[in-house]
Amino acid sequence: MLRPAVFVLLLSACAGPPIRLPDPSLVKASKPTGRGVEVCVLMQERTVRSRVEGVAEWSFEPWHYGIASIVVKHPAGLVIIDPAFGKNVATDLAKGPKLFALAMGPARTKHPMVELMGEAGLDPNDVTLALATHVHWDHVGALGDIPNARVLIAKPELEWARTLTRFLDEGVMPHHLARAKERLWTFDFKGPARDGFPSSFDVFGDGAIVAVPMPGHTPGSTAFLVKLGDGRTALFSGDTSWTMRGVEAPVHKNPLVRLDADEEKTGDALGLLHVLSRERRDVLVIPAHDAAALEQLPSCVGKPPPGTVSAAP
Ligand SMILES: [Zn+2]
Repeated sequence: MLRPAVFVLLLSACAGPPIRLPDPSLVKASKPTGRGVEVCVLMQERTVRSRVEGVAEWSFEPWHYGIASIVVKHPAGLVIIDPAFGKNVATDLAKGPKLFALAMGPARTKHPMVELMGEAGLDPNDVTLALATHVHWDHVGALGDIPNARVLIAKPELEWARTLTRFLDEGVMPHHLARAKERLWTFDFKGPARDGFPSSFDVFGDGAIVAVPMPGHTPGSTAFLVKLGDGRTALFSGDTSWTMRGVEAPVHKNPLVRLDADEEKTGDALGLLHVLSRERRDVLVIPAHDAAALEQLPSCVGKPPPGTVSAAP
């Protein structure tokens, strides 16, 4: 067992490379385009952890931890960003090593995405497009459960994923992608710079959902700018930071569990997220595992999933 003082030393020694902040003038708003779209959240796990588990800070403040998928009701069809837990999530967990199960927590708090879609009156067969911030197991586990969805993944991310063949290699479960192998497509960031990002890819060409590169956590990690009906833009930033605390400080993840492919690039991405959230009132940064940030958007089911664990009073 590590003594607290040793742990604090370890945390500060491994806090990660410097987080460089871009010039605020770089993150100014781009020309508004397109109409907003309706968005809701399918929260598949919600528990409370300690802040120290999420960031390199010695703090036991609560971290409202979540795993979720984002539903975007676009005129062209139903879109899901990060189809998270598949129907076989319990089997996926059981196949992993003990340490993995310990870090991820029990299966009973995890609810397959399609079950929640049923509660929300959404048909998994109606999903026409799936997007992913990255291909770690907790972001693409349900690809096999939405059989009619074309799956669009940033080219460097899919190329990297194709080099991984072992179960849970680098956080990837290859069978998740194999279940959608006939439906996998890649895209390049060929569009213009915007909002501080060097390039972009406008998914429908109407400004409603724009993918931007955010390499670091994985080689092709991607963030999505989604134009909301109220004029704001939600920025789904994946696992660059798991928490809003990480963006606001800014601070890297806990070094013992962070699994970032490139820590320097992750630092640059964190710096950009920090400046964006500070300078742009119209941009809502939403880290993938911050339940409180996700809950700023409406839930698709109108209530928390069964078995939800709430914070102690
Ligand atoms: Zn994740």
